[in-house]
This record gives sequence, structure tokens and C-alpha cells, in this order.
Amino acid sequence: MKWIKGILLGLVILLLLIAGMLAYLLQASGKVSDFKAWQPQTGISVHGLTVNFFGVSTLLLDDGHDQILIDGFFSRPSLRQVITRPIQSDKLLLEQLVECHELSRTQAILVSHSHYDHVLDVPALLEMLPETAVVGSPSTLNIARANPKVTPQQLQPIKPGQVQQWGNFQITALRSQHTPPTAVNDDLGEKLLQPLTLPAKFSEFKEGGSFDYLIEHAGYKILVKASTGFIPEQLQHLEVDILFLGIAQLSRQSAAYQQQYLAETLNLLKPKVVIPVHWDDFFQPLKQPLQFLPRLADDTPKSLQLLIQAAETQGTKVILLSGPQPYLLNSAFASQSD
Ligand SMILES: [Zn+2]
Ligand SMILES: [Zn+2]
Repeated sequence: MKWIKGILLGLVILLLLIAGMLAYLLQASGKVSDFKAWQPQTGISVHGLTVNFFGVSTLLLDDGHDQILIDGFFSRPSLRQVITRPIQSDKLLLEQLVECHELSRTQAILVSHSHYDHVLDVPALLEMLPETAVVGSPSTLNIARANPKVTPQQLQPIKPGQVQQWGNFQITALRSQHTPPTAVNDDLGEKLLQPLTLPAKFSEFKEGGSFDYLIEHAGYKILVKASTGFIPEQLQHLEVDILFLGIAQLSRQSAAYQQQYLAETLNLLKPKVVIPVHWDDFFQPLKQPLQFLPRLADDTPKSLQLLIQAAETQGTKVILLSGPQPYLLNSAFASQSD
């Protein structure tokens, strides 16, 4: 019977090793505080065009009168919830956010693509904000239709290349490309052809095409690119003041891809300021400070370093927003010391 004991002991050791390895891989891939030099000071006066960053690529642009929301993902269910059960919005949290950020001033929610980490809260938000429209792909509109209270007027099909006026904001959607697929993210180009039923499994949120948004406001040009993907030469004749640039899994791509991605975005657009997005662990709730993606998903310090090096080489300032405090975009052009 000694050999059975030996095998059992071996199995226990193996399981412990696997558990230890998993715990290591699920830890943050670095510390946000190591990048203090690029984080702005908060508590400054906020008159002008501000942005609130809620993690992933959910961004609230606010000029004090009108608002534009990019993507709608606040509920951030935990990894366990996402893996084990269908997911849905945290309505209480959304009600608090609607009140706290006066989201009734939101003219439109511009959706980059239909994965749940971009669109989960759109159906619930549209019910709470009956004057607000959603702009997105047919798949995104089918996710919005999960809520029968959403009206047809709220559903605005995306029209790439066409300028649309939403309050004080001029918006142009541009066709784009998702981050290269992974084992759990291999549905690129798939569409959601029927209205979704909520709650839904995360895998039911099909990508449905990816888009960037050019936002013009009071003479400023802003481009929001949520995913680490590009269509070659798509942004060739465009220059912007501010670039929100997705860096998820940049460290995991080949050196050639990294270089081409930065060349097709940062180098072409020559922004004065670049603000990285989609670098946080979106299984953590919004009430906690944003953390880097776990090691399993990315090496975020490396992704950030790649961006910082390329940006600073061409004189573009990098601003790392790490919480949903309003940041005055005009101040990004001011002193180099903030
Ligand atoms: Zn995605
Ligand atoms: Zn995403």
C-alpha cells in the first residue's frame, strides 16, 4: 500500500503546485503606483472638457453641459461570476452613477464593439436615461434590445465615416480592428443576429465588428481606440490632439506587431497627449482602485513601457488615468509637470 500513499502524496503536491501557479498568474502583472510619474494630480478645478475613466474603455466626456459616454461597462462582475453564471448589470450601482455623474446629460453612448466588457450596462443605462441614444453595430443594438424598455429612437445604427452631431460633440465612427484573438476571445467578426436575453453568458456577447470614434469638440480632436488592433493606413490623413489608445495584450504580440500598431496609431496621429486604456483588471469592482491586468492576460508594465517609449520619443505626453475622478483635458496641454 506504500505505493498508493506515494501516488496520493504526489497528486497532492501536483495540485498545490497548480493552485500556486494559478494564484500567481491571477495576480496583477505589476503596480499602478510604479507609474506615478505619468499620473496627473487630482483635485484641480474642472471647468472645461473633462474625462472620467471607469476602466477598460468606458470614458465619460463632459463639457459641463453635454456628455458623451464611450462604451458602457461599470458593473465589472468578478472572474468567478463571469465563468460560472450568466451576467447582468448591477442596477443599484448604475443608479448611483447616474446620479453622481448627472448622466442624464449624456447625449449618446458610443460603443466600440459588443464584448461584455464594453457593452454590458448599455441596456440598463438606456432605460434609466430615456433621452440618451446608443450608437453601435447591429450586434450592439441587439444587446440594447435585451431591455424591452429601450425605445427604437434610442437605437442609432453606426454609420462609419459620417459626421453626427450629439449636443456640442461632433462624432465620426471609423472602422477598426479588435485586439488579436485569444482562446477565450475567438469570435471576431461574429455577429449577434437576435436580441439578446439578459442575464447572458459572457460568450453570448459577440464582437460584431470594432470601431474607433473621432470626437471633435470646441476645436479639439480626440480619437478613442479601445482595442489593440488597426486597419492599415486607416488613420493616415488624421491628426488629433488627444488619443485614447487601447494597450490590452500589447506585450503579448510580436515585436513586429507592436511596432506596426504604434506606427499606425501614435506615430500617424501625432497626438499632443496619449491616454492608455484597456489596461485594468476588469474583474475587480469599480469601488476599488484600478489594478493592472493579471499576469495570465498581459504584462501591463511592459505594454505601458512600450507606449511610453514610443510616445516620448516623438514628444507626445503620456497621461495615466487610474480612477474615475474628472480629468481636465485642456490641462493635458499645460505644464509638463502635472
Ligand atoms: Zn473585445
Ligand atoms: Zn475589451
